[in-house]
Amino acid sequence: MEYSGNPNNHSPHVAILAGAGIGHLTPILRLAASLLKRNCLVTLITGHPCVSDAESKLISAFLSAFPQARKEQFHIVPVDPPVEGCDPFWLQWEATRRSLQVLPSLLHSLSPPLSALVTDVTLLTPVLEFTATLKNLPKYILFVSCARMFSLLASYHTFFSTTHHLPDDDYFSKAELLETPFPGVGPFLKSSIPAALQEATNLFVSIFKEDGKRVSSFDGVFINTFDRLEPELVGNGAKLFDGRVMPPLITVRLSPCDFERGAGASKLGWLDDQAPGSVVYVSFGSRIAIKKERIREIGEGLVRCGYPFLWVVKDKIVDKEDTALLEDVIGDELMEKVKSKGLVVKEWVDQGEILGHKAVGGFVNHSGWNSVTEAAWCGMRVLAWPADADQGLNAEAVEKSGLGIWAKDWGCLAGPNSDKMVTGEEIGTKIQEMMGNDLLRLQAQQIRDEARNAFGDGGTCENALKELIEKWKINQ
Ligand code: UDP
Ligand code: UDP
Repeated sequence: MEYSGNPNNHSPHVAILAGAGIGHLTPILRLAASLLKRNCLVTLITGHPCVSDAESKLISAFLSAFPQARKEQFHIVPVDPPVEGCDPFWLQWEATRRSLQVLPSLLHSLSPPLSALVTDVTLLTPVLEFTATLKNLPKYILFVSCARMFSLLASYHTFFSTTHHLPDDDYFSKAELLETPFPGVGPFLKSSIPAALQEATNLFVSIFKEDGKRVSSFDGVFINTFDRLEPELVGNGAKLFDGRVMPPLITVRLSPCDFERGAGASKLGWLDDQAPGSVVYVSFGSRIAIKKERIREIGEGLVRCGYPFLWVVKDKIVDKEDTALLEDVIGDELMEKVKSKGLVVKEWVDQGEILGHKAVGGFVNHSGWNSVTEAAWCGMRVLAWPADADQGLNAEAVEKSGLGIWAKDWGCLAGPNSDKMVTGEEIGTKIQEMMGNDLLRLQAQQIRDEARNAFGDGGTCENALKELIEKWKINQ
């Protein structure tokens, strides 16, 4: 079946297929907002039900802010039997992958016909399979992590080739540094590779291996980065790899948008009362459960560091299960100490507002890529304490670009390799190191200025996006 394209050459029609988890949903909604603002027609396709309340709220906030966006929803059939002990968001990816048979008829029913489809990175193979009949439809990936992680995805299947051993054949357990065949990328630190990708039987391995090979079947990859953050990859990205032409990286600014404002609690009142640049903001994203003992050491560290702090506590992966009282998680004694020195909360906050507030001077974070790029956009110093997943590779970008420091010797914040004891004293000292480092503050500001140039009017990234939209108009 030939796909005829959109005859309305003033407004390309783009379908956007979202993936699970706030770290995936947020950037895809930001991309949708960006295309709507540039006069594209957008159809947002989401799976139902969502794993977390935060996702449902964010989708509603987006649709209220953009009534012109069309919405399509499909039912996600749960994986049966459920995989014991599997991360609920990974399981949702797998369930979504198995529920996409609806895609061809759904896409065909859209009017006007589509100019392009953008899919979340977790759905590549099924999207290609289920859109195989829509031959002329340009397809794009939204990659939600750093370019270095993209190079790992695109090259991961080659780790299984005859030149390398299989992951279960000691490949990952022997070397500290893994050479990557992907052009322009130095070796990976073994400890920075997601733990799941080092276990041959993990569900994530099969998804990653299968999808990595298919990256080259897409027409482009939207990625939230820019050359000041990852100079070795952006711009010089591989054109050819493993005998295949690689799709171009389209760098887009996916920083917080107005529609997100209502979705998180505002802390403006408290922040307004603090001295400029004095506050340490501590948050580890949307889906990291931190052990109680570690939470308490972090609290001790904050009390010791000597700076006021805004600390978001989280001890469950999925927010719906996050019902314990703050006092019960951190204990009465610590609660009394922290209350007099900072603001501690256990709720979803408006991170965009916090990072942009003049009182905030440093960000202690797991280096989730959205958080890193939000910090870069605001010129905010980062103390990176990665847990797992892509966060080690993200922390490399934080350190190399000069946006922040990486507490490498602390091991993982949470997850499989997080047994190392890190004391409150060590945490307090490291926070002082970040907050007292003026060079870091200046570097972060420089990164912000360069981001604003690249993504502002006439900037390289902004021009590339405009060109792409023009191309969609011509090709339809
Ligand atoms: N976030 C937020 N409020 C919170 C916690 C997180 O707005 O209380 C947002 C944050 O701004 C970022 C996203 O949730 O956009 C988290 O994504 P990231 O990639 O940093 O980490 P993940 O949650 O995927 O591990
Ligand atoms: N990823 C990917 N393909 C997948 C699943 C994940 O390329 O099918 C990448 C993506 O960049 C993601 C990263 O792997 O950000 C780590 O995924 P995880 O969910 O563990 O972390 P999150 O993105 O939610 O912080």
